[in-house]
Amino acid sequence: MSKTIFQKIIDREIPANILYEDNHIIAIEDINPVAPVHALIIPKKCIPTLNDIDSVDIDIVGKMFIVAKKLAKEFKIDESGYRTVFNCNDDGGQTVDHIHLHLIGRRKLNWPPG
Ligand code: 5GP
Repeated sequence: MSKTIFQKIIDREIPANILYEDNHIIAIEDINPVAPVHALIIPKKCIPTLNDIDSVDIDIVGKMFIVAKKLAKEFKIDESGYRTVFNCNDDGGQTVDHIHLHLIGRRKLNWPPG
């Protein structure tokens, strides 16, 4: 299987603005932000879609939300509010087959999403 764009970022084959990194997770600025704050929180383990998460991934998925919370505080959007999103497959709008949690904020977000 060829590497996803996120795997290439994790492996430092292509650049990204890195906001957070530990042994299991990297968080980067989205290259095409939809709001003034738009981060992507990505597990280093390549799980293609939410359909592929398993009980062994509980910790990593939980930690992704801990990183989202930490970044929201750093960006000072924790009080004003923000949205976290996992897109899944075509109808969900997923374009990169390596799960990632979007953290979006610093503007009023519409609901329902388009
Ligand atoms: P999805 O549509 O799969 O939920 O989200 C993929 C996200 O990755 C999009 O918001 C897109 O802008 C972002 N993205 C795609 N390619 C790159 C890249 O090379 N660098 C960064 N930083 N973000 C990317």
